[in-house]
Amino acid sequence: MSAAGPWTATVLTLFPEMFPGSLGHSLAGKALAAERVRIETIQIRDFATDRHASVDDSPFGGGAGLVMRPDVIDSALRSVVMSDRAKRSGVTEGSDRPILYLSPRGTPLTQARVIALAEGPGPILLCGRYEGVDQRVLDAWAMEEVSLGDYVLSGGEPAALVLLDACIRLLPGVMGNEDTTAEESFSHGLLEYPHYTRPADWAGREVPPVLLSGNHAEIARWRQAQAEAITRARRPDLMRAFEARSVPARK
Ligand code: SAM
Repeated sequence: MSAAGPWTATVLTLFPEMFPGSLGHSLAGKALAAERVRIETIQIRDFATDRHASVDDSPFGGGAGLVMRPDVIDSALRSVVMSDRAKRSGVTEGSDRPILYLSPRGTPLTQARVIALAEGPGPILLCGRYEGVDQRVLDAWAMEEVSLGDYVLSGGEPAALVLLDACIRLLPGVMGNEDTTAEESFSHGLLEYPHYTRPADWAGREVPPVLLSGNHAEIARWRQAQAEAITRARRPDLMRAFEARSVPARK
């Protein structure tokens, strides 16, 4: 928790009832109950100005579907930023919080970005619906577009829940054992090695003997070799980046 209060995510959405959703349970649920984390929702429709409370309209140039209006989203964002400024002295322009639009066109979300978001005050997240959001409001707010992967969801809300889950588990005090995150997938640029627990022999399948040896140096070497083999087989892109980083700088 910083002087400005707990880590706070503000989600702009047409479906605020989807939050905290799955985040109300387990680790994130405990962090919310203990007020280590806040998840605020803003109903975008509250900022519509016509009598039908319209938030979308047909696309210029034709085509299928509807596009979320820039003026409505801009008003919703302004309300968040004004409230941030009132709460956080010293912020006189824009926001001191990153503003992210969940979008299949965005930069794929990585653990490195999640760690940076968890270390900050908490993001403002814009969830799209329909065909997405008018480009001008994305440009005007220099919004960072973040994708969960190369597939299309029906809305940004499930993506926001995933992003928030990944951040919240990293916040100080949320997980019992901080070592868990130091060893897991992506923390060193590799996928994680396989895990085993009791029984040592299950259905004729034995635990690799090295794990029963008590030799911690051997176990660490075995785990590293497994992590590299799994990463090479499943994610050659990650392996190439790992190897490039591991090559000592040439003179
Ligand atoms: N017409 C858009 C396109 O082809 O790129 C897809 C719009 S999608 C039906 C509606 C909303 O879901 C998007 O505005 C975005 O907020 C969200 N969304 C869909 N797929 C996503 C993904 N892979 N990652 C993050 N958000 C996504």
